[in-house]
Amino acid sequence: MSDALVIGAGPAGLMAAEELSRAGRRVVVAEAKASPARKFLMAGKSGLNVTRDEALEGFIARYDAGWLAPMLAEFGPVEVRDWCRGLGQEVFTGSSGRVFPKAMKASPLLRGWLRRLDGAGVEFRMRWRWAGFAGEGWRFETPEGERVLTPRVVVLALGGASWSRLGSDGAWVPWLRERGVEIAPWKPANMGLKVIWSPQMARHFGAAVKGACLRAGEVTSRGEFVVSAKGLEGGGIYAVSRAVREGAALELDLMPDVPEAEVAARLARMKPGESATNRLRKLGLSPVASALVMEWGRGQPLAVVKHLPVRHAGPRSLDEAISVAGGITRASLTEGLELRALPGVFACGEMLDWEAPTGGYLLTASWATGRWAGRAAARVG
Ligand SMILES: Cc1cc2nc3c(=O)[nH]c(=O)nc-3n(C[C@H](O)[C@H](O)[C@H](O)COP(=O)(O)OP(=O)(O)OC[C@H]3O[C@@H](n4cnc5c(N)ncnc54)[C@H](O)[C@@H]3O)c2cc1C
Repeated sequence: MSDALVIGAGPAGLMAAEELSRAGRRVVVAEAKASPARKFLMAGKSGLNVTRDEALEGFIARYDAGWLAPMLAEFGPVEVRDWCRGLGQEVFTGSSGRVFPKAMKASPLLRGWLRRLDGAGVEFRMRWRWAGFAGEGWRFETPEGERVLTPRVVVLALGGASWSRLGSDGAWVPWLRERGVEIAPWKPANMGLKVIWSPQMARHFGAAVKGACLRAGEVTSRGEFVVSAKGLEGGGIYAVSRAVREGAALELDLMPDVPEAEVAARLARMKPGESATNRLRKLGLSPVASALVMEWGRGQPLAVVKHLPVRHAGPRSLDEAISVAGGITRASLTEGLELRALPGVFACGEMLDWEAPTGGYLLTASWATGRWAGRAAARVG
């Protein structure tokens, strides 16, 4: 019988492996892909945002899951920065409060981390895909054929169900459901929106809309977003995406720093026969912002720039989302993140049912829950 088995070598699983090994357990990490932490490496492609420079209380309030509080209190914004530094990666805080490693990428951090795990004796089995149960055993598809393991303790860190080509495909849901684990249905989180554009919009694909304010229900965002052939994406959209998913109408204020009366006065001063495009340019709108007004505000007074309705066709697919809502429910877990239905089996990371915005919250919670589950699993005899 092997000792401690971690399934999934993403940020959560590697953290759980580190804690188990620190506690003196013999740890094997089984990973379906040929190399570890592919989503983490992808996250680093656009600037790896590891956490946020924010007081703990406000930081925790950004999660929809108060039950993560004790885990985030032990491994939150301060600890994440120290941990990165411990791996030789200096970090800095950007103007928005987001924290990045100086290298901006995930690869140096991951290299250092894997070296440390290797030095601690953690063993990796790559291309080992957990494929369900075989009685009390854990059945794997491996390059050498099927293998069944019966470890003393297991930590599941299989990720959510988006960007499946990087490994987290949610295939495990029915296997755990069969064993009595409650799993909330997946929903896309931090996702773009689909838009069916008129042909005139094609020349603006790839252009960023900057400085606009997005409003959906109670939520407002001043982030940037990009117009693409498929619709709208980027931080500004992700910030309002949950409210939109839950049914709120989305509108744009393309001149958030200019009061509505001032916009109306400026428009009134323009020559009567002037084209709408010229007027929008004179208001200071970028070509892509004016194109959005022509696309969605046609037939309305130009003051619609202050509350332009976004005519979208719903959220992009689950697989295209940055993260997911849904997963193993809080009620299925003990305080130590052990599955009530499967004693000796723990779970962590994005496979648990919590949701948070982008901006370092996702990685911080994946590490915090991985550490928590690893520590609790290490106590199993
Ligand atoms: C494009 C993009 C950018 C992002 N940017 C950021 C960012 O800047 N900041 C931030 O905080 N978050 C960011 N995220 C989110 C962040 O990457 C994830 O929240 C985090 O990786 C989740 O960690 P995890 O360990 O729970 O799951 P994952 O990283 O998904 O790891 C799960 C692992 O389990 C393996 N696995 C799955 N099924 C099996 C199986 N059956 N058998 C064996 N192994 C299996 C997978 O191959 C994978 O390696 C980004 C995500 C994306 C897609």
